Order: sequence, then structure tokens, then C-alpha cells
Amino acid sequence: MTKINIHDMLTSYDKKNLTIATVCSHSSLQIFNGAKKEGFKTLGISVGEQKKIYEAFPLGKPDDFFIVEKYKDITKYAEELREKYVIVIPHGSFVEYLGPENFLTLNLPTFGNRKVLLWESDRDKERIWLEGAGLTMPQEIKDPKDIDKPVIVKYYGAKGGKGFFIAKTHDEFLKRVEKNKSYTIQEFVMGTRYYLHYFYSPIQDNAFPLSKGSLQLLSMDRRDETTIDEVQRLGSIQELEELGIHPTFVVTGNIPIVMRESLLPQVFDMGKAVVEKSLDLFGGVIGSFCLETVVTEDLTFKVFEISARIVAGTNPYISGSPYSELIQADLSTGRRISQEIKFAARKKLLEKILT
Ligand code: ATP
Repeated sequence: MTKINIHDMLTSYDKKNLTIATVCSHSSLQIFNGAKKEGFKTLGISVGEQKKIYEAFPLGKPDDFFIVEKYKDITKYAEELREKYVIVIPHGSFVEYLGPENFLTLNLPTFGNRKVLLWESDRDKERIWLEGAGLTMPQEIKDPKDIDKPVIVKYYGAKGGKGFFIAKTHDEFLKRVEKNKSYTIQEFVMGTRYYLHYFYSPIQDNAFPLSKGSLQLLSMDRRDETTIDEVQRLGSIQELEELGIHPTFVVTGNIPIVMRESLLPQVFDMGKAVVEKSLDLFGGVIGSFCLETVVTEDLTFKVFEISARIVAGTNPYISGSPYSELIQADLSTGRRISQEIKFAARKKLLEKILT
């Protein structure tokens, strides 16, 4: 990874005129809305043209657009963007469109710790991190011949669950698997899915205490996934599979969730452990992150994934969630990110939360 000198970049910045920028997609409406509430200028990076959709949502529209021919070109305009005192807020689509390598070497101050990408995008490293933190993950089945219960087969690099499939036997696996792709096989965990949205501040001590800084729980959601979540309207999965119709896991939306309160201590214990381990491994997961979990019938969590930045599941909560309302009225994850940047700029701590 090319060494990015955040200190040098920030030296030229007018800290009273920072601009919050992101790619116009994913959770950008929320990011711009939150930044505006905190008094920042906002810049929407868009391909080809100014997106008309933003005209429909004036409070989520960036003050200005920065039009590029293709997302990968953002790297070419880093200097121009630095002249606007831009701080980039990465989200899933931002990283995806730019490509991991360009993202890691992008010469722009970026919210969060970019090193985390290396740990979350590699399923083996992700397991070292999460299991090292004491979390329980779904069992991994190394040899397909050992499939003796329902499993989910995940292709590497598949986004939003695309192409994943369920198999209950080795034969079913052989029928469905695309042999030219790399995959991982996990136990299919039965239970209810909860996607937990945390915010870790290494520089503020006003929430759940950690060895350094503090942790908040801002919201949680459940993803709406087609076709698995609706398939039963047509018949049982078994019946449909016999007709060659297989359920898929493509995310189409997000549903708000409130969890039974007695599970909250476990939620904080998991969040704390994940942050503490990340501090040991790579200097910490800074800002928003999401644990993707299944709660089993004995009320324990199995964590199948971590997303280490703002997730689209926070979008139902632009004007606050049942949890963030207990921290501050009208607090979205997008707004919380801008608050952190504002606090850090005031206290001269930007280098602690930007990379
Ligand atoms: P993203 O990067 O968008 O989070 P992804 O492509 O990495 O998605 P996962 O989040 O790992 O995919 O899984 C996609 C969906 O598959 C989940 O939202 C969940 O519904 C289901 N799923 C994944 N792992 C398991 C599991 N072990 N047991 C049961 N369901 C699972």
C-alpha cells in the first residue's frame, strides 16, 4: 500500500472550510443530509451528469457536484479535490466503483482506517479478526463432501449476496456449484438476521467505554433479500427447487429492527471485542461498522460478516433510530460521521480519524 501522508495533506487544508464528499449512491443522501445538519459544505461525485434524483430530495442534495467520466478517474482529480478541502466518506459503492487498489492509494483525506479493507475483504483474515475477538462465526465446511446439513455457498467477491446458493447435500452442491469460481462453504445458520450498526470513536469518551475511546450503537436493520425472503409465497423451497427455481440473496432494501432489550449487553460485548481486536491487528476500525448476525433460538449470536464503513442499512434512520434517539435527537449515522469530523477538526485531532 502506497504511504499516504495524511499530515501533509491536512496541512494545506482550511479546517473551517472542509467539504464532505462522497460518490452519489448507496447512502449518499444520508451522508449529505447529515453533513448539512452539521454545517459542512457538501460535494457529490457523480459519473457523466448531475443526478436528477437529487432534485427530488433537496435536503439530501449536495451543494455541488463533481462530474467524472468514470469513477476510477477520481484518483486523477485528487489535487483538484484537495483544493476544495475535501474529506471523503467511503461507502460500499464508493469502494466498489473505485476498486480496492485505487481506494487504498487515493490521495485524499478519507474518513476511517483504510487498512480495514484488507481485513474485511479477505474471508480468511476476517475470520482471524472476528474469531480472534471471541465472536462465534458460522462453521466453515472445508471439504464439500462433508456437507451433512444445510450450507450456504458464497463466491468470493460476490456483492450483495449475488450468486450465493443453499445446498443440503453434497449432490446438491455439485449440481449448483460453478467450478471455475472460488467459494467458501458455511453452515446455514437458522435464526433471525440482525445487522448491527455501531460507531466507534477513538477520540471521544462519551459512550460505552473501551480501552481507548468509546462505542455507540446507532441502529439495526434487516435486509430484504430477493428472492429468498418472498419465495414461500409461491410454494416451499423444496417444491420450487424441484422445478429448478432456486432462491437468491440479492439485497433490494432494508427494514428497521428493534431487538429484545435483554440482547443488548451481548451486542455491546461483541462490538467492544471487535474494536479492541482491530486496535491490536491494524490500528482500529474507526467510525461506522456493521456486524451481520443471526440470532439463534438459544439467543446467541453468530456473526457471518463485518462491513467496516457506513452500510445502507442505516438509511431508514435519516431522522434517528430507536437507539440513536437515546443519544441525541435526529442523529443518523451520516450525521454522526460529520459530528466526529467537526469535533476532531476543533480539537486538532483529524489525523486520528482520517487516513
Ligand atoms: P455484503 O458484502 O453486501 O454484506 P456479501 O455478498 O458479502 O454481502 P453476505 O453478507 O455474506 O454476502 O451474505 C448475503 C446474505 O446471505 C446475508 O444477508 C444473509 O441473508 C445470507 N447469509 C449469509 N451467510 C449466512 C449464513 N451463514 N447463514 C444463513 N444465512 C446467511
